[in-house]
Amino acid sequence: MTQEEIIAQADRYLMRTYGRFPLALVRGEGAYVWDAAGNRYLDFVSGLAVNSLGHCHPQVVEAIRAQAGLLMHCSNLYHIEPQVRLARLLVENSALDRVFFCNSGAEAVEAAIKLARKHAKQRHGPDRFEIITALKSFHGRTLAAVTATGQPRYHQGFEPLPAGFRYVPFNDLEALRAAVGEHTCAVMLEPVQGEGGVNVAHPDYLRGVRRLCDEQGLLLILDEVQAGLGRTGRRFAHEHYGITPDILTLAKALGGGFPIGAALAREEVAAAFSPGDHASTFGGNPLACAAAEAAVGLIFADGFLEQVLRVAGHFRTRLAALQDRFPVVREVRGLGLLIGAELSAGIGKAVLGRCQERGLLINCIGEDILRFIPPLTVTETEVDAAVDILSAALAEEGEE
Ligand SMILES: *Cc1c(COP(=O)(O)O)cnc(C)c1O
Repeated sequence: MTQEEIIAQADRYLMRTYGRFPLALVRGEGAYVWDAAGNRYLDFVSGLAVNSLGHCHPQVVEAIRAQAGLLMHCSNLYHIEPQVRLARLLVENSALDRVFFCNSGAEAVEAAIKLARKHAKQRHGPDRFEIITALKSFHGRTLAAVTATGQPRYHQGFEPLPAGFRYVPFNDLEALRAAVGEHTCAVMLEPVQGEGGVNVAHPDYLRGVRRLCDEQGLLLILDEVQAGLGRTGRRFAHEHYGITPDILTLAKALGGGFPIGAALAREEVAAAFSPGDHASTFGGNPLACAAAEAAVGLIFADGFLEQVLRVAGHFRTRLAALQDRFPVVREVRGLGLLIGAELSAGIGKAVLGRCQERGLLINCIGEDILRFIPPLTVTETEVDAAVDILSAALAEEGEE
């Protein structure tokens, strides 16, 4: 099909849940994708932080090919070696002890919510169920995950929402302390709020939250669906803060482009789940786990994260220079290769459009925050090419 035909048929047959750009992507390699008209783009969206190893990383492709010909699916009624291998890789590289596999970020969050509630009921009695989350957070679109999401616009039209969630401003420890009540069982936060605007938790805040949770007997759930697995230049974002969560959610980058999610927990917390308490038909299936084992193995390999931090440093230096040149760039923030540039004057979408015309895909949050989530394998040369395009787009926008 031509690009126009694909777009026309999407309009005819798909539910209108997405506002899409008029591009149909057909092929990807490394940091580049091609549309159906044959145009090439430098991809600094990376499938929204999914393609951390770039498109079609050969080792991930080979792992999928090999597993697809061996056993694609068999159900969790049976033991599955690729699932065990992936769980061991995650546990041995984290402070968590056990893993539940699912298929997406929202499902990982659902598992975390159910586990926290079950744990609290067993430990503290029937009245402890409330989970405090942050405003501007994002935890997914299933009914419980969207309720956990501290953005009212995502709730509208879907009421009644599940009970037991409460919201506080991010990076405000006193507000959190004041919100803890007799029903509270857990606090759930993103170390870096991705979808909510690339807001980085202050070190004192996250450490204070950990201390508060310990004092009050609350579980700390960290949602690292976006920020985890190398995105910030560490295996997990919380490593920057010197703290560990009780429950950790992962997804996006986990499968190297293949859908898979996970909720990890400390032994004592994980023990709240007994056989039959939670399940997923596809969760941890052999194909997804084989892809993820290859992907995570690459991210955790010697030297990989050092390179991420090097390229991220170079990117930040180039963006700082851009900020000096264009007053419209108000702030550049982020951690590792999860970077936001806040613009003024509501020109974010226009700048994105100009970048796209020049062959660079970026993401825009709201009207003003450009989000850059390139593959972790991006080179300094590719970063330079992206910043040059962004610079030209900003210059052009300034002339209008
Ligand atoms: C993307 C995201 C989710 C939801 O993941 P899905 O796979 O879209 O369900 C949850 N939490 C965070 C922090 C995310 O960035």
